[in-house]
Amino acid sequence: MIQCSSACCGGATIITLKELDRFYKIFPITLGFRKLHPFNDFHKAYIEDFAIKYKSFYIIGDFIAGNRLRKRCRMLKEALCSLHNKNKPLQCSVVPFSVTFPENLQDIVIVERKKGAFRTCKGFDDNAPSVWNGEFTDPILKENFYELRQNLVFQRNIVERLFFKCENSPFFRKFITEEQGFFEIPIISDFIDEVCNIAQVDKFEFVKMQRSLFVKELTVGGVKNSLFIEALNVLDGVKN
Ligand code: SF4
Repeated sequence: MIQCSSACCGGATIITLKELDRFYKIFPITLGFRKLHPFNDFHKAYIEDFAIKYKSFYIIGDFIAGNRLRKRCRMLKEALCSLHNKNKPLQCSVVPFSVTFPENLQDIVIVERKKGAFRTCKGFDDNAPSVWNGEFTDPILKENFYELRQNLVFQRNIVERLFFKCENSPFFRKFITEEQGFFEIPIISDFIDEVCNIAQVDKFEFVKMQRSLFVKELTVGGVKNSLFIEALNVLDGVKN
């Protein structure tokens, strides 16, 4: 049996605001920002619909679901996803492809993936079935890819405002000066109402569930996750 999770299911995955209603009871949720350097003008035009433009950079903002301090996702049971084929996040359904590159440039993504954690992925074996040949040949994969892209376009406005809200933080400034880098924050309290409204989830239920998940996930290998401490402080400050 192929343990298909062995390469890709790390401690955290990515979800979109439109999926938050399905996952806020399962994963602690934070926000992550990463820089993306467009490969060419076509790629640049493609990401302009959902990336944040800051100075000369393009930045992708994502809702991070899980705990990046953990090696494995909390939904992984006996090396397989316990959500498989039911409620799996769209991101997990398109991996190892990436929606931050257009469909016809996915070969660039795959070349990069093969250099990193995915180098042992059985899906890259010569006899593995092909799902991309200049375009996606698997209709479900294609559908998930474009739904995920649409979700990123949909959430761009609020993600951009969340990003700029951090402009004065020292972590933000460090992130901006680095070539690559990653910047992760809790969902800022001023935005929790709006996030819950858009995602159509009850704010009190959201705060209660997220609080309990952050507490459960707070310590990994004896190390307290400082981001989760911050997230708990934010949730404690949310007004009724
Ligand atoms: S939700 Fe499932 S597919 Fe996604 S990272 Fe977790 S275990 Fe893997």
